[in-house]
Amino acid sequence: MKPVLSKNRKCRKISKIVRPVLALLFLCSMIFMTGCSRTSPRHLTDTDTAMGTVIIQQIYVDAAPRGFAASAPNEEEDITEEVLAHIRKLETETLSKRVKESEIFSINEEAGKGTTVPLSPGMEAILSQCLEISRASGGAFDITIGEVAGLWDIDTWAAMDDDTLNNHPTQYKLPNKDELSKALTLTGYEKLTLENQSIRMPEGMSLDLGAVGKGIALDEILTLLQEREVSGAVISVGGSILTYGEKPDKSPWRVAIADPDDRTGSIGVLNLTGQWCISTSGDYERYVEVDGIRYHHLIDPGTGYPARSGLSSVTILTKSGFLSDALSTACFVLGEEKGMELAKQYDVEAIFVREDGSISMTQGMQAYFHLSKPEK
Ligand code: ADP
Ligand code: MG
Repeated sequence: MKPVLSKNRKCRKISKIVRPVLALLFLCSMIFMTGCSRTSPRHLTDTDTAMGTVIIQQIYVDAAPRGFAASAPNEEEDITEEVLAHIRKLETETLSKRVKESEIFSINEEAGKGTTVPLSPGMEAILSQCLEISRASGGAFDITIGEVAGLWDIDTWAAMDDDTLNNHPTQYKLPNKDELSKALTLTGYEKLTLENQSIRMPEGMSLDLGAVGKGIALDEILTLLQEREVSGAVISVGGSILTYGEKPDKSPWRVAIADPDDRTGSIGVLNLTGQWCISTSGDYERYVEVDGIRYHHLIDPGTGYPARSGLSSVTILTKSGFLSDALSTACFVLGEEKGMELAKQYDVEAIFVREDGSISMTQGMQAYFHLSKPEK
């Protein structure tokens, strides 16, 4: 059995970066048309990495009105740094299951031994929101997937570059059925108890917040932008994007939705005004290929295997980062029919790209989505 890490790793690596860049190119297209009057907002940009993905920021900071002193440029530059620092702090102190100092790491360590562990108010809120999505999706979304996701370990292997892969002492190995069945007995959101601001779970269970981390980051960034003199911004944290405020020329934000068949292209564009969160979950994001079969990182908690729901990607559009991220994963695992029902239940807009490249969407999405290539 010869494992291959995606058909064209180089292309995939580049496109990992190209996809958000593409989205932002659309946004940039109208930006420079505004004049350079003293009252034009300043335009700040930054591209960096955090949460194992690329973070791209475009921020417009209000300049002082005519006759008033402008805020110091250094203060403005700090906003992009502040956003990045905030995302990294959220990852290392709260959400990462790999960083020893994070709250989720110690929950997995301690509660994973069967002891009751106190929670911070923030973590309690995150976990109870996750449980609500689990209930609403009939378990298609389940953060207790930790042991199963750990066995597959797709995120780690899909993130490796060619050099690291070539020098890796072992090759990727598919989990065997016995391991998977055992890990599946250690999953199940209904086995988790949240009460009195503490958590209890069965011995050996572990939590994985990978499906909501980027969305939670968007919600926190939004609060940060609202506290600052920001007139408009687009910030992408991997496949999750936040739009905020307005562009200097008042034209809509344009966010491209990646084509699962060709990630350097897009299936279409969302034209958006003001604050929105957009998250996409797809089988082309992170995967390994073994004997020509693609194993991606979106697990069906019912089987323990990567979900085969007939979809290549799901995009959710709503005001909340958490909801957009959680529901994109949930709807992908559920498939089109049940995913559509879930989207309606939460009153969010959704686009489903089927494996054959055809598209369906909620009715409300039609007002925002503009197809950029003919349907197959
Ligand atoms: P991405 O991280 O690429 O943006 P998602 O938001 O869909 O994609 O999250 C995928 C991650 O969520 C996986 O890497 C894994 O950590 C976790 N996960 C996988 N399957 C599930 C599931 N059914 N429910 C909850 N979390 C999941
Ligand atoms: Mg998600």
